Amino acid sequence: MARFPEAEERLLNVKICMKCNARNPIRATKCRKCGYHRLRRKAKATRA
Ligand SMILES: [Zn+2]
Repeated sequence: MARFPEAEERLLNVKICMKCNARNPIRATKCRKCGYHRLRRKAKATRA
């Protein structure tokens, strides 16, 4: 967990490529690195 909201947003507002795990802008529809279209939002919940 980040210490302040700005940092947290920067960490969470990102999409991860399901293929190569590259970080992509939240608005991306496909991976900037490999072009793969299956992107997931970075997991938000903290694990207990
Ligand atoms: Zn990729």
